[in-house]
Amino acid sequence: MSDTVTLRVTSPCEHGVDHEILELIDGAAFSFPECKDSKGKPRIHIASKEAYPETKRRR
Ligand SMILES: [Zn+2]
Repeated sequence: MSDTVTLRVTSPCEHGVDHEILELIDGAAFSFPECKDSKGKPRIHIASKEAYPETKRRR
């Protein structure tokens, strides 16, 4: 059994904004103040395969 974790590279986000959340586990939700919707609320991002295909392996 392996304890290797696949992390998705989440910066920059799918909208092209650089931020401090560099890597997350698959399917994790995240938001950050620099990426807002038209109402000024932080957008919810999902670390999905489609949006963040680049991955890193960590033990
Ligand atoms: Zn974004």
